[in-house]
Amino acid sequence: MLVRIVIGGLLTVAAFAIAGRRLWYLFRLIRSGRPDAGRFRDIPQRAWAELAEVIGQRKLFKRTVPGIAHAFTFWGFTLLMFTILEAYGDLFDKHFAVPLIGHTAVLGFLEDFFAVAVLVALIVFTVIRLVSSPARRERRSRFYGSHTGAAWLTLLMIALVIVTLLGYRGAQTNTGDFPYGWWAFASHLVGRALHPLGTGVNSVLETVLLLANIAVIMGFLVFVVHSKHLHIIAAPINVATSRRPRALGPLYSTPNMDMENVDENTVFGAGHIEDLSWKQLLDLATCTECGRCQDACPAWNTGKPLSPKLVIMSLRDNLFSAGPRLLGAKGANGSNADGDGNNAPTLVPETITPDVLWSCLTCGACVEQCPVDIEHVDTIVDMRRYEVLMESRFPSEAGLMLRNIENQGDPWGLGGAKRTEWTAGLDFEIPVVTGAIPDDIEYLYWVGCAGALDERARKATQATARMLHDAGVTFAILGPKESCTGDPARRIGNEYLYQEQAKANIATMQEAGVRKIVASCPHCFNSIAREYPALGGNFEVLHHSQLLSRLVAEGKLSPGNGFAGSVTYHDPCYLGRHNRVFDEPRAVLSAIPGVSQIEMHRHREKSFCCGAGGARMWMEENIGTRVNVARTDEALGTGADVVSTACPYCYVMIDDAVKAAGREDDVRVLDLAQVLDESIGARVSPTETRG
Ligand code: SF4
Ligand code: SF4
Repeated sequence: MLVRIVIGGLLTVAAFAIAGRRLWYLFRLIRSGRPDAGRFRDIPQRAWAELAEVIGQRKLFKRTVPGIAHAFTFWGFTLLMFTILEAYGDLFDKHFAVPLIGHTAVLGFLEDFFAVAVLVALIVFTVIRLVSSPARRERRSRFYGSHTGAAWLTLLMIALVIVTLLGYRGAQTNTGDFPYGWWAFASHLVGRALHPLGTGVNSVLETVLLLANIAVIMGFLVFVVHSKHLHIIAAPINVATSRRPRALGPLYSTPNMDMENVDENTVFGAGHIEDLSWKQLLDLATCTECGRCQDACPAWNTGKPLSPKLVIMSLRDNLFSAGPRLLGAKGANGSNADGDGNNAPTLVPETITPDVLWSCLTCGACVEQCPVDIEHVDTIVDMRRYEVLMESRFPSEAGLMLRNIENQGDPWGLGGAKRTEWTAGLDFEIPVVTGAIPDDIEYLYWVGCAGALDERARKATQATARMLHDAGVTFAILGPKESCTGDPARRIGNEYLYQEQAKANIATMQEAGVRKIVASCPHCFNSIAREYPALGGNFEVLHHSQLLSRLVAEGKLSPGNGFAGSVTYHDPCYLGRHNRVFDEPRAVLSAIPGVSQIEMHRHREKSFCCGAGGARMWMEENIGTRVNVARTDEALGTGADVVSTACPYCYVMIDDAVKAAGREDDVRVLDLAQVLDESIGARVSPTETRG
């Protein structure tokens, strides 16, 4: 007995000393990040996220088989904490049982059930890893670039925990030390196999396997805090401190982006690892290298060098190599630089390359998929902010877009005078706001730059306006006073220009007394509804698909028989994933008698970007397959007559790809509003609506 206590005790003290030292180091490293005070508000939402995502494993179930396997491993290890308690009790007393519940059939059964479930899950993980091996599938493997050796070692260690556990429990059934009856079925089965060895051998086995079990658990503890399996400890903290409800929609305004309080020490965005906040550093430490983000990323899937997983892993490598420097003396201005910050490796181009940085579409597919709530988009945009605002480095073609917004108020530089041209084809007048918006006008129709200025997108704008008019909705437009919301400037990293645009638009709308807005562009919708409030602009904003859906439901618009055909609907990222507007566009299509809907394989929150987001619409795409071509191939693969969407960017990108594929004669690209408008009446001929 003394030998058991001494060996078990020494193993435990050594493991806790090593793991504790490492955890203290990691804690100090993460705490060295910039302050971020906004991570502890909304406690009920955070508590719910902890329940749903950590205890309930909600995001992991997005992939059924690995999700179930992971959930059983997590729940299994949670319940198997009782077996660890029993193992330590057995060091001192061979007949130890957990107080109160230690002899119950329920506990004995659950312990054995989850031990077996974990073993089955390990087999599933092994098969998944073999099938998805980077050696077999190269870039198509979601484990491409992950530390696969560490993953195999983890599987082995977990297997050893369970094998030694069932081994010593089986031996206990033969020595009379086991506290449970036959409900602990797996232990008794192992015991039956060991029974022929006799009581003496079983007694030795009981001690050896008990100590082996404790040794493996302690070894696993040390391994966890030195590997990607740190997520076992870090993930619950990361989930608890992530943006709520999700890190999508508005970009996060990190504290160093306050344009009103700037001095010579201000660093905009993130250029070195010390420019990241503690939460961004915690993200890096939490990544499990599961590759779900990489698998969903449209940039990676079309051959670009950007993988959100590899971005996080590269930044993490930078963080760990910078550890001694970060934990050195703080700079005089309170920054974390040790006075030699400029010699530290840059995030761009030394940690990730410019091609990686500028490939991002800010589509949010990575954030949506990440099971531990890592906020890739905010960190990528923070690096862009540094490149644009501190270094003036960005793709040259995007420079023209930024200058156009600055000088003309739209990305193409066409100017405000052209913003009302689209109204010329209508047989009714649309009031243009010049002073205060009249009381009898309910909505401001925010047309957006593309909706007002792009020839193809104008057709959707006209259709929307016609239907609002028909339904008796009173609305006005800003015309020449409308200016770019600043979305492309913000996504490319020019926070200064974004804030200038946003403040000017907010002032215009507040002076006009605007309260309710309907926006056709999801990017405008996202900016005005989700980002302008941070700058004092609070308006009630609807996307046109939401208003049209409501008007149809209220009977104010009656879809007719003017449209017939099959339609596949493409979810725009900034309407769907970023703002959860999935149902209303589909409700509009469902209400049209002649429409048969066909879903693409990737739809709703799994939708694949059209290639225009993140200001990519204004950048050359010279690497890999074009994203709009890849997405349009999926749409064409459904065999639908019409590819429909609800975003002028998506409309233009998909229309371009349909034409590039030579399919414009048999497949039409239409905004949702055009499909509904066409169904209502023959006011627009089918040829007119063809892009
Ligand atoms: S936001 Fe989209 S494009 Fe950017 S890294 Fe994430 S998945 Fe890839
Ligand atoms: S960032 Fe999230 S989804 Fe991507 S590999 Fe890491 S844990 Fe997995």
